[in-house]
Amino acid sequence: MAEFVPINYQTVLASVIEQAKNTKSLGEVASYIPELAYVEPSKLGIHLITVNNDHFHEGDANEKFSIQSISKVLSLTLSFKALGNDLWQRVGIEPSGTAFNSLVQLEYEQGIPRNPFINAGAIVICDVLVSQFDNPKKEILNLCCKLSGNADIAINAAVAQSELDSSFRNRSLANLMKDFGNIDNDIDTVLDVYIYLCAIEMTCKEMAQTFMFLAQNGVNPLTKEAVVTVSEAKRLNAILQLCGFYDEAGEFSFKVGLPGKSGVGGGIIAIHPQKYSVAVWSPKLNDKGNSYLGMKMLESLTTISQSSIF
Ligand code: GLU
Repeated sequence: MAEFVPINYQTVLASVIEQAKNTKSLGEVASYIPELAYVEPSKLGIHLITVNNDHFHEGDANEKFSIQSISKVLSLTLSFKALGNDLWQRVGIEPSGTAFNSLVQLEYEQGIPRNPFINAGAIVICDVLVSQFDNPKKEILNLCCKLSGNADIAINAAVAQSELDSSFRNRSLANLMKDFGNIDNDIDTVLDVYIYLCAIEMTCKEMAQTFMFLAQNGVNPLTKEAVVTVSEAKRLNAILQLCGFYDEAGEFSFKVGLPGKSGVGGGIIAIHPQKYSVAVWSPKLNDKGNSYLGMKMLESLTTISQSSIF
């Protein structure tokens, strides 16, 4: 019978980063939000935390970067807690198969976005937050501070302003959904919240810690508080698995095999329920808007450690 050998994650991460350094990164740093283009393209970091609270990291894991769409997991968490299953009247839970900022499905589907992680869906989620909370920005930032264990989590105001100045497409998504009756609040107010959340900055370490609750049945391991129920954690992970990488969700499942979420700042968070949470960062994006080397690093991680969920 094969003997059980515990995984030495430090050795695994050292191989993962070594492989990534030896791989030519294809793709480009996001520039459609002009401020994001100033990031050093060669940054490369990984931080993994196990459910036993063992930390492992390599590379630029302690440098802040723009988490962008990864914040959508937190806004979804808050809105799901607030509305429960009524939330699914406003937004679907199906993979989109279209680009993250696509308008096409909204016309066919009467202003109901396919899922909460494409931009249209995340804008609806922000509309829910504006209806539910007096200060939704503060609510999310407080959640980030609590989950990451760092009271200093903040936004990058230059990134927020840059996105506001170039938010033509997100504004058109919001307008189209407003016309279909799926945005209740003032469009500028909703987009202001959306853009603010995208401009939150974290390090890989903070990000891995923030999402540990999804590896631990909904419980924040730092405070032992239930952020969501076991059932809600299961559902959130399912949405990450199916919708976390836009029209590359199948590819990510196929090659990495973990629930996860990417952002155009080059970060990716991935969860192995009951095992670990891992954050990676490499700013160059492939043509689907996902970090090229970030995906490669996670593919190496689950391959070397044989730890995909499948
Ligand atoms: N703020 C970005 C946008 O709305 C987020 C996109 C992403 O990270 O995928 O375009």
